[in-house]
Amino acid sequence: MKLYQVCNRCVMDTTDPDITFDENGYCNHCTNAIERLKQPPYGLSPQEKEKTLHQLIENVKVAGKGKQYDCVIGLSGGVDSTYLAYLVKQWGLHPLAVHLDNHWNSEIAEQNISNICKNLGLKEKRVAVNWEEFKDLQLAFLRASTPDSEIPSDNGIFTALWDIAKEYKIKYILSGSNLSSESIIARAWSQGHYDKTYITAIHKQFGKMKKLSLHILSNEEIRFNRIFFGIKLISTLDFVTYDKEQAKAIIERELDWKNYGRKHGESTYTRIFQEYILPTKFGFDKRKAHFSSLIAAGQMTRDEAIKCLSEPLYSDEQSVQKDIVDLCNKFEITQTEFEEIMALPVKSINDYPNDSKLLRNKLLNPIRLIKRKLTHLLKRKR
Ligand SMILES: [Zn+2]
Repeated sequence: MKLYQVCNRCVMDTTDPDITFDENGYCNHCTNAIERLKQPPYGLSPQEKEKTLHQLIENVKVAGKGKQYDCVIGLSGGVDSTYLAYLVKQWGLHPLAVHLDNHWNSEIAEQNISNICKNLGLKEKRVAVNWEEFKDLQLAFLRASTPDSEIPSDNGIFTALWDIAKEYKIKYILSGSNLSSESIIARAWSQGHYDKTYITAIHKQFGKMKKLSLHILSNEEIRFNRIFFGIKLISTLDFVTYDKEQAKAIIERELDWKNYGRKHGESTYTRIFQEYILPTKFGFDKRKAHFSSLIAAGQMTRDEAIKCLSEPLYSDEQSVQKDIVDLCNKFEITQTEFEEIMALPVKSINDYPNDSKLLRNKLLNPIRLIKRKLTHLLKRKR
């Protein structure tokens, strides 16, 4: 068993089974992140950044000339997507704002989305998932007992963005993903977001419904969309100097955006999954990756991160219990069923069919077949 170790520069530790450390005790995550942060557009000088951003805006305008919308943006009501919507309008672009309604929005999230659209004069394109199917897929992931239960929502958001870009013939998807707060991600904590083999296998094995009509986006489809439809997905906040705290102040002031008070206040599911299920059952605290990203970007000190990590995810037991009850009610399962799910042995994507296994088999099967035939022939000759 690996001894517990925490990085000397960031706060990633051996709760990520794939972490490695160098002779200084620095981990692979922050070492790689620091290198990535030097790359353009994030790592450019302010002047060069400005120029690159100007070019991007021009490209979007030219590609969308004469159309009602020149870009698609995702709008979750969180800080990143709200600030991006604010910037995009400042730049004079004409975005179509896509919101995935997965039926887990908190009231304050709904209010924020409505305020943002009203104050920015944004056209909101709301995509509501079929709840029965979505619920079946979310529950299937919980029963599969892997740490990847955010896949239905994460995949759903990007499916909606790509589908709408195609439908409206829009060439640019401007995303709020950004290196300053997301340069560090532990693969073992969450993976397979566009692995259709994995997602469909989980549903087939653990879902109650026979088939899903939900469109599931695959890695191949993303490649296809890029090549054949010429659609570009751009992590747009990397083109500007992005400081989350400053961004919050701006959107509060300009857009009547209300702070959720705590992280993941926009969705009960994300909150209970990331702040209770993931740490309690799997031992993964995603704040470590988030804070480590901020440390790598120079927006947080290691001491501040350690202090924040010492604070509990849920402030009190009552709030946990309330969220568990809400989750069970919404999923129409009993609390005993929920406890059974929590007690299931931990699994990973490697315990199920997935794209890598499929590819390996596709490559290996012909070799195995030839081997078998040869052995058979040799036996007959003898
Ligand atoms: Zn590190």
